[in-house]
Amino acid sequence: MRAVVVESDRPASVREIEQEFLGTGDVVVDVAWSSLNYKDGMALAGDPGVARTLPLVPGIDLVGTVATSASPAVSPGDLVVLNGAGIGESRHGGFAERAVVDAGSLVLVPEGVSARQAAAVGTAGFTAMLSVLRLERDVRPGDGEVVVTGAAGGVGSVAIALLSRLGYSVTASSGRVDELGGYLRGLGATTVVDRSELAEAGRPVQRARWAGGIDSVGSTTLASVLAQTRWGGTVTACGLAQGADLPTSVLPFILRAVSLAGVNSVDAPVELRREAWARLATDLDLDLLDSMTTEVGLSEVVELGPRIVAGSVRGRTVVDVRR
Ligand code: NDP
Repeated sequence: MRAVVVESDRPASVREIEQEFLGTGDVVVDVAWSSLNYKDGMALAGDPGVARTLPLVPGIDLVGTVATSASPAVSPGDLVVLNGAGIGESRHGGFAERAVVDAGSLVLVPEGVSARQAAAVGTAGFTAMLSVLRLERDVRPGDGEVVVTGAAGGVGSVAIALLSRLGYSVTASSGRVDELGGYLRGLGATTVVDRSELAEAGRPVQRARWAGGIDSVGSTTLASVLAQTRWGGTVTACGLAQGADLPTSVLPFILRAVSLAGVNSVDAPVELRREAWARLATDLDLDLLDSMTTEVGLSEVVELGPRIVAGSVRGRTVVDVRR
């Protein structure tokens, strides 16, 4: 079968492999689709922070049909989705025509969502849903403006689509306002701001602008969002596209009762995965999802790796692993 393989001594490339290469697991999946995430860009470059073992088939997402199963959780013929859980990092992932995985994190693709759309959601969209699930515990539509940073990226794009469908008023923060302002408004953002407004280091408490926020950028941007969140608001943090630092102080928490909520998709328990996927099936406008999706073949994904790390990919990219 064909697979993208990253090795220690040569760049990522498409190769022919045997199933034995994929190791052992409960379930063999005939992969139809994968997707390109920020982390996949890092793995394709051999970054040891993501590619924890080499050689590695990258791809932190896969969607496909169960070929064989030693688990009662899924049966041959089931259409399943797997996001994270170590694939494409510490074990072989979705950039191959087959995958051998453990059943514990597999979720059935919900009725009404196609295999391609499930891949378009992927880890980025799943993480956006986890962020919304956390945010809505504290912040309701009508409470005020919710800011989404890294807006034109995968997490950001899906978060905007979800929040606007749920009735939230959304401000999108992006470095590509001129180029992609129309795209962001089309996803449902009511206001689009240049990310430089938030990227500057500032005081830890500033004029309150946001009822809450969904951040995938980290660093001074997340610090600014916290500084501008009003009393009792919640900000979720899932990413580090700008940086892993967080230059703030305790002041937003003790003066404004702001909550900072961490979001992690990789190790999410299966019950939470099922809840998120059920909500994605009802709350995500699939036409909007299609409008933010670009499709590539297995060989093209290698060239796209550096572009997603550079922040120049828009929305979501699905990978047709058979092409
Ligand atoms: P994308 O590359 O699709 O999106 C990231 C976006 O961040 C870019 O499109 C850009 O948006 C913005 N950005 C990039 N560089 C900078 C910068 N220097 N300063 C400010 N903004 C910047 O990635 P994903 O959406 O797939 O992932 C986003 C982040 O979330 C990554 O760090 C990823 O690792 C993390 N992540 C974490 C998960 C978890 O489980 N915790 C799961 C999924 C993702 P724009 O052009 O609009 O400014």
